[in-house]
Amino acid sequence: MKDSKEISENEKWQAVISCIDSYDGLFFYGVKTTGIFCRPSCRAKPPIRENTVFFDRPAAAIKAGFRPCKKCRPDQVVFQPDLDLVKKAKEFLDTNYNQSIDSKYIIKELGVSINHLARLFKQHTGFTITEYLAKVRVDKAIELLGLSDEKIIDIAYMTGFKSLSNFYKCFKALTRCTPNAYKKGRGD
Ligand SMILES: [Zn+2]
Repeated sequence: MKDSKEISENEKWQAVISCIDSYDGLFFYGVKTTGIFCRPSCRAKPPIRENTVFFDRPAAAIKAGFRPCKKCRPDQVVFQPDLDLVKKAKEFLDTNYNQSIDSKYIIKELGVSINHLARLFKQHTGFTITEYLAKVRVDKAIELLGLSDEKIIDIAYMTGFKSLSNFYKCFKALTRCTPNAYKKGRGD
């Protein structure tokens, strides 16, 4: 996926005058004479090149004193790099669930501020990072309880839980049964 920094000013300008909607969410443009900013795809009258300024995010345009266009509502666009970051974070949690994951580790691996990521993650997945991680871990535990003959305590540690009590708490919250009951339910 393209980052706004990888798109040249010339390419941005072409996207604006041709109203190309595949650039929506990648950058925004403001028109100095009207004080309004738009998505690249906006059908508003094309601006003059020297009156046009480009922004990476709606917040940057607003900060620079531009108002969002009422036709194309650039302030409601989902910013693609944000989605990419959430996807990356999910993949990271999906594959590293068995590690001890704290905010320091996430910052080191993903190179973002934890508050920024936490907000985006909740906004786009509906889960907090902690909730999501618990869900991934419990899903893995269910798989192991169903397939292996490992002890419950071993499964708890294998799936990244730091204590048996936390494992029980999360398991029960998500499945409404205990790991023991679940294992018994296998019928062997
Ligand atoms: Zn517009």
